[in-house]
Amino acid sequence: MDIKSFVAKRKSELSVLAKSAPLTPTLMIIQANDDPASNSYVRGKIKDGEEIGFKVLLNKLPTTVLQDELLKEVEKANLNPDIHGLIVQLPLPKQIDEKVVKLAIAPAKDVDGFHPLSPFTPCTPKGIVSYLEGEGFLFKGKNAVVLGRSDIVGKPMAKLLLSKDCNVTVLHSKTSMEDKRAYIKMADLIVVAIGRLGYLDHSFEYKPSAAIVDVGINRGEDGKLHGDAVAGLPVALQTPVPGGVGLLTRLALMDNLMEAANNELRD
Ligand code: NAP
Repeated sequence: MDIKSFVAKRKSELSVLAKSAPLTPTLMIIQANDDPASNSYVRGKIKDGEEIGFKVLLNKLPTTVLQDELLKEVEKANLNPDIHGLIVQLPLPKQIDEKVVKLAIAPAKDVDGFHPLSPFTPCTPKGIVSYLEGEGFLFKGKNAVVLGRSDIVGKPMAKLLLSKDCNVTVLHSKTSMEDKRAYIKMADLIVVAIGRLGYLDHSFEYKPSAAIVDVGINRGEDGKLHGDAVAGLPVALQTPVPGGVGLLTRLALMDNLMEAANNELRD
């Protein structure tokens, strides 16, 4: 199934769950930037929530906000029982320490899954795995290569694939090209998250049965969005950009929010 149809189906399933839930799952987004890409991500999250029947509240702060003031807003949301999920939209202004803010979010509400004690799986890896599962991808014993080792994508992706019993190799900017070619040639699953337009191209050798999941979002000279892989590589499955992992990430956030609201009911 293509990603758009997969996401639409899962959203309608969430919508049924939302209608029968005794409370309305509610997300608060704290945003302290005026970044056009962030504004567009926030609009996407609000739209997803509205479509499903969740409540998404936006607390937009001035970009001059001080760290203490932002932390107070986080604490207010932490203590508000009507808010089940809380995210602080990145990037944050330079006067604010991102790490301090991430750790200030109550783990039980951290639907982004960034806090070390958060019970939630980070959204991009979670969305990718749920899609691959839907496609019938069998993880056990498969060679998975993750390109990129960031805290929000590469590392949690590798951890999740390990928990699915894949043989996981993480490649990064210090990996030699020779090694990259060798690992990629053996890979059954390649997740590329490096932010380099068209990095995976026809010069690499791939298993024809491989799946390539393209996390990259890069603005091309044509003004359009492109992934880290060129389109049309000779593999069994390749996710598109746009209309790929971005949608899966948004879906996983809504999934985590439903879970957070359910956890609240159980407690
Ligand atoms: P990041 O924090 O900049 O990390 C990039 C990673 O790629 C680093 O680990 C870096 O290695 C590695 N890298 C850079 N050049 C490389 C190369 N030539 N070969 C191998 N590895 C290389 O980026 P990120 O936040 O993980 O995001 C990666 C991409 O995914 C970006 O395009 C971002 O916009 C996109 N993204 C998309 C979604 C979505 O929902 N679709 C979500 C998050 C991010 P070192 O550690 O050695 O520096």
